[in-house]
Amino acid sequence: MSRTYAVIAEMRGNQLRQVSFEALGAVAQMASTGDRIIALVIGHGLQEAVQSLSMPGIAQIYCAEDERYKYYDSEAYFSALRVFVEQESPEVVLFGHTAMGRDLAPMLAAHLHTGQISDVISILPDSDGFAFRRPVYAGKAFETRRFTTHSNPWIITIRPNNFPALTPEAGALPTQAPVSSPAVVALPAPAPSLRTVVRDVVTKMSGSIDLSEAKIIVSGGRGVKSSEGFKPLEQLARVLNGAVGASRGACDAGYCDYALQIGQTGKVVTPEIYFACGISGAIQHLAGMSQSRVIIAINIDPEAPIFQMADYGIVGDLFEVVPLLTTEFRKMLV
Ligand SMILES: Cc1cc2nc3c(=O)[nH]c(=O)nc-3n(C[C@H](O)[C@H](O)[C@H](O)COP(=O)(O)OP(=O)(O)OC[C@H]3O[C@@H](n4cnc5c(N)ncnc54)[C@H](O)[C@@H]3O)c2cc1C
Repeated sequence: MSRTYAVIAEMRGNQLRQVSFEALGAVAQMASTGDRIIALVIGHGLQEAVQSLSMPGIAQIYCAEDERYKYYDSEAYFSALRVFVEQESPEVVLFGHTAMGRDLAPMLAAHLHTGQISDVISILPDSDGFAFRRPVYAGKAFETRRFTTHSNPWIITIRPNNFPALTPEAGALPTQAPVSSPAVVALPAPAPSLRTVVRDVVTKMSGSIDLSEAKIIVSGGRGVKSSEGFKPLEQLARVLNGAVGASRGACDAGYCDYALQIGQTGKVVTPEIYFACGISGAIQHLAGMSQSRVIIAINIDPEAPIFQMADYGIVGDLFEVVPLLTTEFRKMLV
């Protein structure tokens, strides 16, 4: 039986977020010849995004373009999503496990009276098709979950940085769509009577690289001791083309903005390399970063719990170790 897979792409400024291409990578692991793959982009000024999505294997790209979609708004975005889903009746709908995906996916699941599997980090073959692996208990365990029926749509959110991104260069989707570019279809903007509207958004600059999609993160904790203490971490991040993160301890102390907080009540990240500088390793912090590929901890206290989680541990003063690392990486990379 052929199935329709729908990826709900997500914008950041004028461009698509990396997780949208990773969602296509997840589809590539499930779809087979004969399946149909479609995408929906909602926003204002979608030309660049549509171009980057145009790759063989995608049958159609639906664009919901309207001034009202300039800023994310649950009601407005959901109204477009609902029209798209009612028109296409996809069997599988994928979102990034981002603020937007975490908001829209359950609304859609409730609307369709169907189930949802969230925060998926890998897809496994299962007797009935596929099963989905996801972290639970703040990353202390994993569960494998599957849908019990094929008769209702599957709603899935995938954790950023866990699936290979699909790009035109990376490979093709195994479908019957023509090798030429996908058809671009304008989705008529529904006119919902919105109960609230966004009047203005004031952006706080917390670095040019999105923390949840960064490949390298240099994070500081209370051991950084002041906002000035974050400077060496910023320098290391710059040399490595990474982003700066923080523990809640550092945020609570006023050393940095809460936008940088990683953990249970902050952002969940899965970079390739995570530097934990002056972070003790509380369970709430680990909840946000324990799935990082390689963890490097720098802490003055050899008994700090972070060393139990780290792949590499450096016992030492971060104000000595971090500048040394920056100097050595600069020699290697510049
Ligand atoms: C409901 C709830 C939710 C929470 N959510 C989060 C969350 O999302 N994220 C989060 O991070 N926390 C969260 N917390 C807080 C968490 O429990 C810890 O309090 C916090 O993570 C501690 O931050 P820290 O490791 O920076 O500070 P500390 O625990 O004070 O650790 C500082 C570390 O720096 C080291 N150090 C000091 N000086 C140096 C130096 N010069 N060089 C190297 N190392 C040095 C010390 O040895 C120490 O290990 C939450 C707590 C609760 C109750």
